[in-house]
Amino acid sequence: MRTLLIASVLAAFVLLGVAAVAQQLPLRQEVERLAQGPLRTDRVKEGLYVIRGPFLPCTTRGCRPGGPDDGLIHEPGDVAVRVTPDGLIVIDDKYPEMVGDVLAQVRTVSALPVKYLLNSHHHGDHVSGNANVRATLGVDIIGHRSIRENFLRLNQPGEPNITFTEQAAVHLGGVEVQLRWLGRGHTSGDTVIYFPDLRTVHTGDLVIDGMPVIDYPGGGSAVEFVRTIDRLLEMDFDTVIPGHGRLMTKDDVRAYRVRFQTMNDRMRALVRRGVSKEQLDTLPEVRTALGLADLGWDDSVSTTAWFGSVGRYYDELAATVAP
Ligand SMILES: [Zn+2]
Repeated sequence: MRTLLIASVLAAFVLLGVAAVAQQLPLRQEVERLAQGPLRTDRVKEGLYVIRGPFLPCTTRGCRPGGPDDGLIHEPGDVAVRVTPDGLIVIDDKYPEMVGDVLAQVRTVSALPVKYLLNSHHHGDHVSGNANVRATLGVDIIGHRSIRENFLRLNQPGEPNITFTEQAAVHLGGVEVQLRWLGRGHTSGDTVIYFPDLRTVHTGDLVIDGMPVIDYPGGGSAVEFVRTIDRLLEMDFDTVIPGHGRLMTKDDVRAYRVRFQTMNDRMRALVRRGVSKEQLDTLPEVRTALGLADLGWDDSVSTTAWFGSVGRYYDELAATVAP
C-alpha cells in the first residue's frame, strides 16, 4: 500500500513538476567523488586560497565506533585565506586537533601574520578550532550574534568576541572583506563572507557540494533557506567557496536553489497526498519519495546528516500546506 502510494505520488510530480523545472536547469548534479587524503591548499584567485581536507572515510566527530557510517569520504569545512599587504584574514578553522595543520597550510601561502579570524557558522567541523587559534595567535574572532549564541548554548569554547547582526566588514591592507547575514538557512547564523574585489563568496554550509543540511536546533529552516539563497544570488560574484567541496560558479548555486525548491515542493506534495511522517522513516523510503537520485543527492556526503532531520523537515513543510 505504502509502495503504491509513493509510486503514485512520484508519478504525479514526475509528470507535473519535474518536467517544468528540468527545462530551466538540469536537476542531476554530479557531486565530487573524493579519495582519502591529507589537507591541501588550492589557489582560488590572486590573494585568495582554500584549504580543503583532510579527506576521511567519515567525519572525525561523526563516526561512532560500531555506529552508522554512510561509507562516504568526508572533509571538515573549507577554510579560506585572504592575503593582504598588512596580514592575513582567515575564514573558519576546522576541528581543534587540525588547527596545527591548518596554520601550517596558512604559512605555505604567506609568512605574514594572521590578523583576523572570521566564522561562517557555529558547527564544530568548521570552527571548533577557534579556541586553539585564539590561544595560538591571540586574534579577534568575528561572527554573527547568532553564531556566538549557538556557541554559548552548546558550551562550545572559542565563541566569537566581536559580533554583528546584519553586516560587518574588515578593512586590512587596502582590502575589504565583508560579512553578510542574509537570513536563516542551514542555521540561524549563516554568514556569507564576501570578497568584493575578487567577486568571490565563502558561503559556509549555505552552499555545499552535496545535499543541503538543515540544523533545526541550531535555528535552521528549509523554507527560509531558499529565500536566503535568493538573496545570495542578488550579490555580484562568479566564484563560490562552499562549506564543503569543490569551488563552484554562480550557475551552480542557481541549480542548487532549483533543486532545493523542487525538494520542498515534493515534500509539500507528499503531505497533500496524505503521506505520513511515519512512512518516511527510513532513508531508502525518503530517497524514493523525494526523488533524491533525480536531484543528485541520493548518496551525497551530507545525505545521511540531512536524513537526521527529516521529521522536522516534514513538519516545517507540512505547516506551509493549506488544510
Ligand atoms: Zn554546518
